Parts: sequence; structure tokens; C-alpha cells
Amino acid sequence: MPDLYAKKCRCPYCLKDTETKRVLSRHIRTDHTDLDGLIHYQGPNVYFYEPVQCSHCRFIFHESFEKLRPDVRTVLETDILPILPVLPFAETERTLKQALHLYKFCLYIAQVTFQKDSIQAMLGVRISWMYRLLQDTTQEMLWAERTVQKYEKLYLEYTDAVRTGIPHDVLLLRISDLYATLGDTDNAKQWYSLIFQSKTVSDRIKKEAREHWEHYRETHAI
Ligand SMILES: [Zn+2]
Repeated sequence: MPDLYAKKCRCPYCLKDTETKRVLSRHIRTDHTDLDGLIHYQGPNVYFYEPVQCSHCRFIFHESFEKLRPDVRTVLETDILPILPVLPFAETERTLKQALHLYKFCLYIAQVTFQKDSIQAMLGVRISWMYRLLQDTTQEMLWAERTVQKYEKLYLEYTDAVRTGIPHDVLLLRISDLYATLGDTDNAKQWYSLIFQSKTVSDRIKKEAREHWEHYRETHAI
């Protein structure tokens, strides 16, 4: 595994250091980026190595996970950790399918440990992207649909960037882009319009939204 190195991460459950593989930064080569942010790599795929499985306790997590509540720890100890499989590829080079497998476990753990909706939605986007790489459009769309619902819920309950876990204008762009991915013209138009008309959305996000909407109009019969 010449392109990978072992990175130490603190496990949020057992609080021990565990090692996981990451792509060496000098080997990260971007090929192109899809409109909704998915980066395609020439070399090893950085996304494959985001989920971590602790080698001490089996806990599967993402580095964005927050501290676990005491009641959650109890449930993990009695009901979840004993049934989690040890995934040998978690510690080695990973294939696309193995990465997808880890992301699904990671999302499951995010749900049972009550991680923020913004973290769960981010993992949902990653799963949808893994299906895009697998060219499984049905599953990609299914996960995009689930995720946009999660992001819309976040929008309705939005408080601030720290508590909700995502800047307001980025959230608007995510929702718009997901509707564009889904080919849902009415919703995409409505959400992109919210960005164009907003007085608080940053110029950078407005510019990206304009490019995305123009591309959508060029590639769809509307
Ligand atoms: Zn652990």
C-alpha cells in the first residue's frame, strides 16, 4: 500500500487510539469534480478511507462524530458492539464496495448514537456518491432522496452553523444540488431561486448555484 499511511484516531467509544489508513497527501490527484461536489481522483480514492473501525472495540465512526452520551454508551455496550462484525478491510486498502459497506455501518452507528442530522446527511451523500461510482443509479437516487429529506428537515429546524453543523448557505446549495441530481426540476428551481434572491448568501455560493442551475438547464429539457 505505497499510497496509504497509518493515521492514529481517537475512538469516541473506548477512547483509545486506533490506526486507520489514509491517502498520503502527495498521492492525492484530483481528476474532476461533479457539480454536487463529488471529487473524482486519479489515484487512490480519499473518500474510501473516511470511515474508521476501532481495532480495540469494533466501534465504527467518522471523525466528525461527537462525544457519546452516557445512555448511548450503555446501549452500545449491551446491544450494538457485540453484534458488529470485525471488518478486516477497515485496516487495509479498500475497494469501492468495501468502502460503501463501511459507510453504511458508519451511518447506522451515527443514527443509534444520535449524531447530528448534518453528520447523518453528509454520510447519506457519501453513500449516494459511492453508488454513483458503482454506476448503480437506482440506489444513488434512493440515497439522494433520503438525504434531501434529511437536509430539508435541517433547514426547517435551523438554528446556527455550529449547532446545526452546516452553514446556512451551504445547506441551501446542498438541497438545490440534490434536487438537481434527482432531476426534480420544480424543486431545484425553487431552491436555487431562494439562493439567488437571498441577501445573506455569500457571493461564492451564489456563483456556484448559478453555474449549477445553468448547467442543469442546458442538460435537461425544461
Ligand atoms: Zn474503540
